[in-house]
Amino acid sequence: MPIYKAPVEDTLFVLYDVLKMDGYGNLPGFADAPRDLVEAVLGESARICEEVIQPLNVVGDTVGCKRNDDGSVTTPPGFKEAYDQYREGGWMALSFDPAYGGQGLPLALNAAIGEYLSSSNLAFGMYPGLTQGAMAALYVHANDEIKQTYLPKMATGEWTGTMNLTEPHCGTDLGLLRSKAVPNGDGSYSITGQKIFISAGEHDMSDNIIHLVLARIEGAPAGTKGISLFVVPKFLPKADGTAGERNPLSCGKIEEKMGIHGNSTCVMNYDGAKGWLVGEANKGLNAMFVMMNEARMSVGIQGLSQSEAAYQNAVAYAKDRLQGRSLSGPKAPDKPADPIIVHPDVRRTLMTIRAINEAGRALMLWTALQADISHRSEDAAEKQKAEDHMGLMTPIVKGVLTDLGFDNAVKAQQMYGGHGYINEWGMGQFVRDARITMIYEGANGIQALDLVGRKLGANGGRAVMTFFNEVGTFCAQNKDDAALGPMIGALSKGLKDLQAATMWFMQNALAKPDNAGAGSTPYMHLFGLVAMGYMWARMAKTAQEKLAGGADERMTHKLATARFFFEQLMPESGAHLARVTAGADSMMALPAEAF
Ligand SMILES: Cc1cc2nc3c(=O)[nH]c(=O)nc-3n(C[C@H](O)[C@H](O)[C@H](O)COP(=O)(O)OP(=O)(O)OC[C@H]3O[C@@H](n4cnc5c(N)ncnc54)[C@H](O)[C@@H]3O)c2cc1C
Repeated sequence: MPIYKAPVEDTLFVLYDVLKMDGYGNLPGFADAPRDLVEAVLGESARICEEVIQPLNVVGDTVGCKRNDDGSVTTPPGFKEAYDQYREGGWMALSFDPAYGGQGLPLALNAAIGEYLSSSNLAFGMYPGLTQGAMAALYVHANDEIKQTYLPKMATGEWTGTMNLTEPHCGTDLGLLRSKAVPNGDGSYSITGQKIFISAGEHDMSDNIIHLVLARIEGAPAGTKGISLFVVPKFLPKADGTAGERNPLSCGKIEEKMGIHGNSTCVMNYDGAKGWLVGEANKGLNAMFVMMNEARMSVGIQGLSQSEAAYQNAVAYAKDRLQGRSLSGPKAPDKPADPIIVHPDVRRTLMTIRAINEAGRALMLWTALQADISHRSEDAAEKQKAEDHMGLMTPIVKGVLTDLGFDNAVKAQQMYGGHGYINEWGMGQFVRDARITMIYEGANGIQALDLVGRKLGANGGRAVMTFFNEVGTFCAQNKDDAALGPMIGALSKGLKDLQAATMWFMQNALAKPDNAGAGSTPYMHLFGLVAMGYMWARMAKTAQEKLAGGADERMTHKLATARFFFEQLMPESGAHLARVTAGADSMMALPAEAF
């Protein structure tokens, strides 16, 4: 049975030692969350994830969700009880506005807990995760009546949320969507259409399910300019706020899928279901983007979470499995062979995953803190800078942490040799579960296009220039430090490669957009590498400062992992740059018929 221990100490190191979260007391909610409270909350969330939710991960995978003949869906054994415990513990709305039943604590804290939850059980974590995303969209765009009706119930987790974008013929290109909304004349609309692949679309864990549905109002323009967002509850809320009459919408089928079996992925049929407009008519994509951006961050965290859980198991196995002798002489002479962790190639794999996980955690917490600033700061300049950061980093966190999360789950599985391929060890589940994170919430190719096509040039390149400036200044300030110098040298080289790739796009992609499309994925990974390198440089500097105050084994390990990152992973920046600057010609040379 796979193991999992939430990395609470590492979270605290990043939040307090590196990112100095205790300096944000001016933001609402932060003064109410001093370090001892944050430690207690992280500790308690670790406990519930490790003891209650993680033990259900394998059962969720093997039993899965079942659609009953009446269209209801039964979740795997234990899921409902664990969900009740989770929501009764107040975890659903930890960072949400207290005006609607939230606790107003930092989003960065919620993000940290999101990692633990998904590491414990990715499929389970999607039920609260989607609810939080739907709450965010309603909070920003819905009118007061809708907010009052839905948000308090969702904040307690009595009602859960979903997002309904995808249709059989329409995934990435939402302009093609056909679901239709007809005004009922009383302010409500009648929604008709079919949505597919709807996560948590129907289940038995909550009293009501609140669907956020994209549809086209009769007569609205074709394409993305005619899409509106509707809130469509499974049960229509009564005047007293409880769930009432059943709305004509149903789960037609549960998709048979490769992983995340514990989450019900539904075909949802809307047969004249009653819904209410959220935000302005024909501006539905703007409103849904609040949910999508929230969800993209969460999916990036899911990628990290599978990498971390798979890593912890691979380490335990590598310490236990005896095969061969160390090249530098036996390390366990009393045993018939050494544990495989003595072999450099095994170490290469484990160190690669570890270095990416720790940098990925820092990157996502740094970005989550920027989300706090962008939502809560009253300083316009600070707020704008944080919003720029979020816009720039969202596709990178989503695309890079999920591509690497899947790669790392495979690498961790490799540590088990043939046993990794055998279900009993549970490594296959991490690989299968991690795979979806690269696909949903915008497939990763689309994240890369978003970065290159929209985010780089936004506001005259303001966000990207701010990032270059911040990393460049850090390098200039620390390049002469004897211990950090070599790492800073590697980071500076990565930054130069990233700047060169950016410049190449400016000179070669405007007149020939295929060059932007061709280089977008290597560019996204180059950006992710430099962003993780910057996180490692900051963590190494912090570790060194702490070591100056006295011996600390954890900080020694941090420095060693930082060195590994810069020596073994950072050099990939040159290869990414070469791929970007090769352009589209060889990629597009063959006519489609030649494939
Ligand atoms: C398990 C699961 C859960 C899901 N949950 C939800 C959910 O809760 N709600 C919801 O609405 N949807 C959900 N989805 C749908 C998911 O978001 C879509 O599958 C995804 O956005 C891709 O759409 P598609 O499958 O139609 O692929 P397509 O859009 O057909 O894309 C196919 C491939 O072509 C590439 N591609 C497409 N257009 C371009 C382009 N212009 N440039 C470059 N490459 C391009 C894509 O990157 C992709 O690799 C879920 C899917 C799965 C499998």
